Amino acid sequence: MEKLVQGLHQFQANYFRPHREIFKQLVKGQHPESLIIACSDSRVSPTLLTQSKPGDVFVLRNAGNIVPPYGASQGGEAATIEYAVAALGVKEIIVCGHTLCGAMKALIHPEDAAELPAVRSWLGHAEATRAIIKENYSHLDGEARHKAAIEENVLVQLENLRTHPAVAAKLARRELTLHGWVYKMETGQVFGYDVEQGQFLPLTPAVETGPLTAPAESAAG
Ligand SMILES: [Zn+2]
Repeated sequence: MEKLVQGLHQFQANYFRPHREIFKQLVKGQHPESLIIACSDSRVSPTLLTQSKPGDVFVLRNAGNIVPPYGASQGGEAATIEYAVAALGVKEIIVCGHTLCGAMKALIHPEDAAELPAVRSWLGHAEATRAIIKENYSHLDGEARHKAAIEENVLVQLENLRTHPAVAAKLARRELTLHGWVYKMETGQVFGYDVEQGQFLPLTPAVETGPLTAPAESAAG
């Protein structure tokens, strides 16, 4: 807690004061252009990744960046999506998964969540992902299977989004676009789903990350 309060002081002094004008505008209302649906994982920060300022993006986060199909859950997801789309008029929705996702690991290894009944129940909304992996990726195991689950889950949740009436209506009027991303924690890269190529392609080049990559060989000759 002490660390968080220290952060509050730093926010006041180093961010709020110098950006007073932005906050003055935000008091009047919000006009975010995007809704980002991401995992609750502490290592994933959608606003940091996109370098967004307060007011830029509406954010929905939960374990596994899951969108229950419309009517399938009493949770806040449907309300958040409806508000973002119908009331705020966001122009795009991005479902952002990430590498090393514990929720997706638990989805393909249910024994990991044996003692976590609420998690097990929540992951039921990603049952289609589990079925796709079981039927189509049985030749993969370990990391490759985990990666496939992370990517396929983003696509499944994009489909679930279409079941929400507010989303369906805006899509029909071409006033909304849907996008699938995967954040690769190891390199800081974000991969976007390319519909034509049917795969996730990097939206940004890889960045040298020092200790995360093998040491560079000394220049020879
Ligand atoms: Zn996750």
